[in-house]
Amino acid sequence: MPSILQCIECAQQYPINRVIYTCEACGGLLDVKHDFRSPAAPITRELFDGRLGTFAAPYGSGVWRFKELVYPDVDDSKIVSRMEGNTNLYEMPRIAAFAGVDCLFLKHEGENPTGSFKDRGMTTGVTQAKVLDMQRVACASTGNTSASMASYAAYADMQGIVFLQNQQIAMGKLAQGIAYGATCIQINADFDRNMELVRQVSDRLGIYVLNSINPFRLEGQKSIMFEALQQLRWQAPDWIVVPGGNLGNSSAFGKGLLEMFEVGLIDRLPRLAIIQADGANPLYRHFRAGFKRFEPVNAQTIATAIKIGNPVNLQKAIRTLEWTSGVVEEVSDEEIMNAKAVIDGAGIGCEPASACSVAGARKLVEKGAIKPGDSVLGVLTGNVLKDPEATIGYHADQLAGIAPSYRNRVLQADDNLDEIIRLLE
Ligand SMILES: *Cc1c(COP(=O)(O)O)cnc(C)c1O
Ligand SMILES: [Zn+2]
Repeated sequence: MPSILQCIECAQQYPINRVIYTCEACGGLLDVKHDFRSPAAPITRELFDGRLGTFAAPYGSGVWRFKELVYPDVDDSKIVSRMEGNTNLYEMPRIAAFAGVDCLFLKHEGENPTGSFKDRGMTTGVTQAKVLDMQRVACASTGNTSASMASYAAYADMQGIVFLQNQQIAMGKLAQGIAYGATCIQINADFDRNMELVRQVSDRLGIYVLNSINPFRLEGQKSIMFEALQQLRWQAPDWIVVPGGNLGNSSAFGKGLLEMFEVGLIDRLPRLAIIQADGANPLYRHFRAGFKRFEPVNAQTIATAIKIGNPVNLQKAIRTLEWTSGVVEEVSDEEIMNAKAVIDGAGIGCEPASACSVAGARKLVEKGAIKPGDSVLGVLTGNVLKDPEATIGYHADQLAGIAPSYRNRVLQADDNLDEIIRLLE
């Protein structure tokens, strides 16, 4: 059976080549559904392990290595790939001790071509744009989606159009969107409003939307789980911890984990912990209130990648929490920046939002949800270079409301040998 689109609420189905983001019958989110039983080659650990280290396109990509699970019947000639994925899995005792567990793995998605996990969703999203013969692609973005889309659109000879909020965009991300040649429109509105605008404009002008409401984005992002579990020799950890903004990644992880379980690549499901900033915590509040009535919030946090008050993938994230007996936790900006300083100081580095994984794991250990003996996989979503202002502001103790516990002061000296030596003694 070929792949189809299916509404997660009413199960209405649509052909795979329709340009559609939500269900026409009920407005629900759509899943891309593949038939994993039909292929001539069965889906096994050996199939994917056999492709490790290959130079052959598209299987050298850490997304397309898992093509049978990601987009089985797409023609290889349509695939737009920058060999994304293949990111490292670190085991750092220092960071594990900070989190309060014996065993902590960190999957560093900041090692993707444009410095965030968004590349994994963009290779599949732009590939689908090519399948659909679209010339223009657009997104609203807190920064990383635009950086990634700008790159992949340029690489595929398409026009990328980026709707940016005019408040608090990290310099590294803004620079990338401009550098990769996207049409950048800075709009006097926050992310949530920009998201509405991009959908309306794209509808009118026939532009393909590449925000994570686009289900093909999530198909690529599932591969973070495939690859991490492959690196763990297909042995599932007890917990997976991930930051939550628009909740695309959380949703993709749920779908990917369930699919891996169903085809027999793993023999148990890890529990998922979604971590939000306490100033951008709509899912956390909803979770605490037993999913009764959802209320968006006015988002505010230094972790701009998750500064989102009305996440588009809410329903898919709730489904994921059910599938994985998941939990939601919140952390303060101070906790985020202190965790980031520990991750950075261990030589790995990440952007503020990414540090939620470690800050959140630590909090869940304190609260007793994660046991010190549990194995934990945290996902670092973005690169340390994305937001230099936050890093420098932290170490200079110039961030309002944040007391830096792990400051690395920059020392000052005159052109004087003795003075410099004294500083180092
Ligand atoms: C996009 C992004 C997030 C949030 O992911 P969602 O899928 O929107 O929940 C977190 N961290 C970084 C670095 C990001 O770029
Ligand atoms: Zn529906």
